[in-house]
Amino acid sequence: MTTGNINVSVENIFPLIKKFLYSDHEIFLRELISNATDATLKLKHLTSIGEAKVEYGNPVIEVRIDKEGKKLHILDQGIGMTADEVQKYINEVAFSGAEEFLEKYKDSKDTGIIGHFGLGFYSAFMVAKKVEIITKSYTDAPAAHWTCDGSPQFTLEEADKKERGTEIILHIADDSTEFLEENKIRELLVKYNKFMPVPIKFGTRTETLPKPEDAKEEDPAPTKEVDNIINNTEPAWTKQPSDLTDEDYKNFYRELYPMQFEEPLFHIHLNVDYPFNLTGILFFPKLTNELSIQKDKIQLYQNQVFVTDNVEGIVPEFLTMLRGVIDSPDIPLNVSRSYLQADGNVKKISNYITRKVADKLSSLFKDNREDFEKKWNDIKIVIEYGMLSEEKFFEKADKFALYPTVDDKFYTFEELQEKLKDNQTDKDGKLVVLYTNNKEEQHSYIEEARTKGYEVLLLDSPIVAHLIQKLETEKENISFVRVDAEPIDNIIKKDEEKISKLSDEEKDKLKGIISESVPQEKYTVQMEAMDSNAAPFLITQPEFMRRMKEMNATGGGMFGMSNMPEMYNLVVNTNNELVSQILNTKTKAKQERLIKQSLDLARLSQGLLKGEELTNFIRRSFEMIK
Ligand code: ADP
Repeated sequence: MTTGNINVSVENIFPLIKKFLYSDHEIFLRELISNATDATLKLKHLTSIGEAKVEYGNPVIEVRIDKEGKKLHILDQGIGMTADEVQKYINEVAFSGAEEFLEKYKDSKDTGIIGHFGLGFYSAFMVAKKVEIITKSYTDAPAAHWTCDGSPQFTLEEADKKERGTEIILHIADDSTEFLEENKIRELLVKYNKFMPVPIKFGTRTETLPKPEDAKEEDPAPTKEVDNIINNTEPAWTKQPSDLTDEDYKNFYRELYPMQFEEPLFHIHLNVDYPFNLTGILFFPKLTNELSIQKDKIQLYQNQVFVTDNVEGIVPEFLTMLRGVIDSPDIPLNVSRSYLQADGNVKKISNYITRKVADKLSSLFKDNREDFEKKWNDIKIVIEYGMLSEEKFFEKADKFALYPTVDDKFYTFEELQEKLKDNQTDKDGKLVVLYTNNKEEQHSYIEEARTKGYEVLLLDSPIVAHLIQKLETEKENISFVRVDAEPIDNIIKKDEEKISKLSDEEKDKLKGIISESVPQEKYTVQMEAMDSNAAPFLITQPEFMRRMKEMNATGGGMFGMSNMPEMYNLVVNTNNELVSQILNTKTKAKQERLIKQSLDLARLSQGLLKGEELTNFIRRSFEMIK
């Protein structure tokens, strides 16, 4: 037996490991199983090239809890180590890795990254007061037994283990006994190891076998104890897209998110090996009603080992609403987020993902437009957000992004321009695109636009104000105006002359009368000679102000706009009968009543009449029809 000191520069590194990695103790299991997997795959490689003259067989990794002995065992059937290798890899290599790691991160506050970093074998000391390694190399060398209790001293002696492979025994520390709980270990295995490439056994389970032919009705079906394998060693993303059916992708989605009952809308299979290596599958979920907290996120793996579900910096922000898996050994994990964003490789990965998503959307649009239109409402948020945040994506999406009308027709931007240009170009040659964000609330305004034969778009995503702002700058000679921004003839000004039934004097007089009866601080009275059939009173809200306020509310826009009070215009149609009647009414009381009632009706049509004012309006209206 040899004893010795691990070459330590600090007095005792193990308490440090505990302290620095406080929040991420659980990763020890991932690290040890990764080592066991590596050892198994190394053997596979050596046997395949004829270097190791042993039978590879069907190796399994086993995790076993010894609750009474307060021990956790991790066993593999991989290449194992000779005593010399233990000395070299565990005492020197592994240790220096751990030391280097601590040196680098001892001042780090970003504990998030620490958990992603492969601290390796020594992470065992985060939960164990003593660790043993019993290992037998695939070569003829005798087995070795290494023990270390967390101090820099270790012992190394011969062992009589006969089978090839390594057993790691953790003597769980008193403050870490949760890792002796079956449920806890199962949870960790599922979290980190669900898709690892070597089968992992955790206990056994009872399997029901088919009844023999001659069995009687009341005979119980025979059962058998089988290994409980917790992982799928060949998850869908490791396969070729051509080998997978739609059903396979859906099944994988369920496997990934067992608590998610809604099916994904479609998937994107990522697969590239140059200039970086990346595989994965992204799913577009239905997003309409769940912009809130998102639990099922994109998961990042490295060689089938779960690393994190925080993919910020790796996946462009607008795609973090998607679900699925990306697996890349080329993503550096031992760096801070800001470094990650500046890393050239990571930038390439992010661009690649953006391009693949754009290409997929483009082909969905081309191959089955009808279906794409059906899905539009569920995917538009991602696309619109992408168009706003990534110039490259905008260029591609501009060809398939859809603009639905209130009548459920869907146009691309180009089609929209073509469709509107004859009827909706104003006298200055500007194409005016009308839209509403709510078909019900702005119904009467939409109807007005319809009488002119205009198309009205239904744009109701929360970031639409930003999008149209961008489109107006990106495209030439075009403006978006919400249907209730102004009277329709003012929104799309044509060269027609307006004939007013009232003289200028009459208009001035009327304006005075009306201004007296409506709250000045809310409404600016505006006289307009409109169609005699158009409403007598109309409440409008200028596009610019409203849009800036909306942009403010969702981030961006002009500073300070959100504090501006709501301002409306009260448009009086001087050509409407009722308006003439107001002007010509002799009794003051009746005149005021007509104005109040008309104003309330206009407010009602804008959805602005509420509470006590609505109650009063209803009472007054009943009185009037008696
Ligand atoms: P890393 O895995 O990043 O190299 P570790 O500290 O986890 O660092 O392990 C150090 C070395 O110890 C490994 O490179 C490997 O050679 C050896 N090792 C660890 N675990 C095993 C195992 N289960 N079987 C065989 N060798 C192992």
